[in-house]
Amino acid sequence: MIIVLKNDLKEENRKTLRRFLVDLRVEAVPVTTITQSLLVVVGKCGELTREEIRKHSSVARLIDVDRPYKLASISSLKTKTKFKLGENITIGNKKIVIMAGPCSVESKEQILNTAGEIKKTGAHILRGGAYKPRTAPYDFQGLGKIGLRFLKDAADKNNMPVITEVMDIRDIDTIERYTDVFQVGTRNMQNYPLLKELGKQKKPVLLKRGMWSTYKELLLAAEYILVGGNENVILCERGIRTHVPETRFTLDLNAVPYLKHETHLPVFVDPSHGTGRASLVRAMSRAAVAAGCDGLLIEAHLDPRRSVSDADQAISMVELAKLIKEVRLVAKAVDRI
Ligand code: PEP
Ligand code: MN
Repeated sequence: MIIVLKNDLKEENRKTLRRFLVDLRVEAVPVTTITQSLLVVVGKCGELTREEIRKHSSVARLIDVDRPYKLASISSLKTKTKFKLGENITIGNKKIVIMAGPCSVESKEQILNTAGEIKKTGAHILRGGAYKPRTAPYDFQGLGKIGLRFLKDAADKNNMPVITEVMDIRDIDTIERYTDVFQVGTRNMQNYPLLKELGKQKKPVLLKRGMWSTYKELLLAAEYILVGGNENVILCERGIRTHVPETRFTLDLNAVPYLKHETHLPVFVDPSHGTGRASLVRAMSRAAVAAGCDGLLIEAHLDPRRSVSDADQAISMVELAKLIKEVRLVAKAVDRI
């Protein structure tokens, strides 16, 4: 159960309500977002207790949620989560939002030239990693802070918002200055200290599904961010480990309609990591939009074969432009833009 508090309550009233709950032996976690103050009740409440809480002068209403992810659950909100990025982009709206760019920021020239081309294809948000989670410690680890600067400059020159990955709590403040969306990678989906810190941030978080995670685990990971007060979380399906060796991961598109039924949060799909093969990215992008996703995260490179990381899955700018045209057609067919 979620207790929605009345607006503009004085601290005094909040304390009284909390004491009142303690007396009733009801445990509750306070959540303060930009728009509202809530108390998330831990465990179940009897009918009588529930009535007493409902009648309390500081309580606006109660929301029953029969899921462990109280704030992420569809029943906690009447409307879908929507938020603006920059002036013209709304995440979670009818329009399918395309985030595209290289796996890694490789140099100033590379990202600047890429951003111009990405913009021309009609993509909306520039992606690029400056802190890279690489399987081998000897592989390129990203340019770090200077890479963030190159990325932000390239995006600004093309009037595009930026998404980039954060792996370490210690980098949050630096990354915050250069990005519009924090990306949490598959390997960090259950990095709870990181999620808790991102819950205190004002900028949105795109949370990738762990490659071994269930939908419930993904939603509970999102809950860690929401409970901190950050309401703007995007879920991203990016493929899971299966027994299929022909693709790097198996893009689990079941996740899209499942999550859309289960949560009010926007759902994106990353068909680049989800397949690991450039030749499959366009088809799986079309399928993802047909399945009902709100946006795509695509790895695209000026010279895919030369991409420093994830070269096998990077598509060219020509392919990206085709992909965007095709997904627009699919979008229309499923009543999206
Ligand atoms: C990426 O987007 O470049 C990335 C590392 O993704 P994932 O965390 O899904 O592997
Ligand atoms: Mn990558």
